[in-house]
Amino acid sequence: MSKRIDFLPYGQQTIDDDDIEAVVAILRSPFLTTGPTIKQFEETVADYAGTKYAVAFSNGTAALHGACYAAGITEGDEVITTPITFAASANCARYLGADIVFADIDKDTYNIDPTDVARKITSRTKAIIPVDFTGQPCDIEAIMQLAKDHRLVVIEDGAHAFGAEYRGKKIGSQADMTMFSFHPVKPVTTAEGGAIVTNDENYYKKLLLFRSHGITQTPYAAEQGEWYYEMLELGFNYRMTDVQAALGISQMKKLDDFMDRRRALAATYTELLSNVNGVKIPYQVEHSSSGWHLYSIQLDEAIIGKSRKQVFEEMRAANIGVHVHYIPVYWFPYYERLGYQRGLCPVAEKWYEQALTLPLFPKMQDEDVQNVVDQLKYIIS
Ligand SMILES: *Cc1c(COP(=O)(O)O)cnc(C)c1O
Repeated sequence: MSKRIDFLPYGQQTIDDDDIEAVVAILRSPFLTTGPTIKQFEETVADYAGTKYAVAFSNGTAALHGACYAAGITEGDEVITTPITFAASANCARYLGADIVFADIDKDTYNIDPTDVARKITSRTKAIIPVDFTGQPCDIEAIMQLAKDHRLVVIEDGAHAFGAEYRGKKIGSQADMTMFSFHPVKPVTTAEGGAIVTNDENYYKKLLLFRSHGITQTPYAAEQGEWYYEMLELGFNYRMTDVQAALGISQMKKLDDFMDRRRALAATYTELLSNVNGVKIPYQVEHSSSGWHLYSIQLDEAIIGKSRKQVFEEMRAANIGVHVHYIPVYWFPYYERLGYQRGLCPVAEKWYEQALTLPLFPKMQDEDVQNVVDQLKYIIS
C-alpha cells in the first residue's frame, strides 16, 4: 500500500474564522488578562458541565494542582490514581507532598478499577483522582461511594471527557471537583488552558485564591486603603488570559458538534475494525457516552505476528500518526526513584504492551478513517 502524502496526526484542534475573530477582538480591547472575558468563559463552562462554579487556569495541570490544594492534600497524605494516564494526574498531588498510590485498571474499560481502589485505601488516604480515559467516563458512582464511606475527596480528571456523559449527565457535576484541559488535542481548546468545575463554594474560593498568588481583598485591606490587599496563602500565578478565554468561549459553541463528529468517526472505526483478527476495539459501557478523545485499540501480537513496535513504526512510515497512550506513570524514572516497581499494576502493564492509539479528531475525513484501517489491515495481515 502506498503511504499518505500528508501526515495524519493522532489529534488536532479545529480553529475557524470566528475563533480567530474572537481572539483578535480581545487583542484590540483594554484587557488582555484579568478582564471580564475570564468570568464569561467560566460561566459558559459551568453551565455546560451543570455546576455552580468553574475556575479557569493557565493549563489543566495547574488546575489539578489547584484542586489538590483546595482538597487540603498535604505531606503524608496518600492519593489514589490510575497508572494509565498522563503524568499530571499523579504529579499534581506530588506537588503538595502526597504519596501516590496506583490502583490497577479495569480489564474492559481501561479506567481505574474501583475494586482495586477499595483495596488500596488506608487511614492516610485523602483523595482519589480517577481519569475518564479516552473520554469514556470512569465508574464515578462506585468511586463516590468509596469516597463517602472513607471521607475522601474525589477529583475527576476529565481532560479527555468534556462533553462526555455518564448516565445521561454531562461530566463535571458528579465528583467533588472535575478538571478539564483545553490543550489543542483536547475536546475544545484555548491553546493552553484548563478549568476546575465544582458545586462547592469552599473549594471555589480556595481555587480562586490559589490561582492568583493567594492574594485577595479582605476587610482589613479595605480599611487600609484602596491600594491594599493581603496574601493569605502561598499561591501561584496560574491565571488564564482573556485571549485564551475568548478562544474558549468561541470553541464552546462548537463542543456538541465536535462531540458528534468524534462519535461518528469512532463508530466508523468500530464498524471497520470489529472483525479484524488480532485487533480488539475499545469496549464501551452502556450507560455512558464517551467523548472519544482517543481511539485506543489492543493488538494481539500472537495473532498478527508482529510486535506493537513494528506496527507502530510501519504506520508512522505510512504517514499515519499513531501513538501510544499511556506509558504506566510509575515506570518513569522519577517515580522509580521513589521506589515504585514494575509489576505493581499487572492489568495496566499488560494492557500497555498491546495499546495503540489511532488518529481521531473532528476535522478528520471519513476517507482518513478508511485509510487508517486499510493501512493497519495491510500491515497486520
Ligand atoms: C492533557 C491532560 C492533562 C493535563 O492537561 P494540560 O492542559 O496539558 O496541562 C492531565 N490529565 C490528562 C489525562 C490529560 O490528558
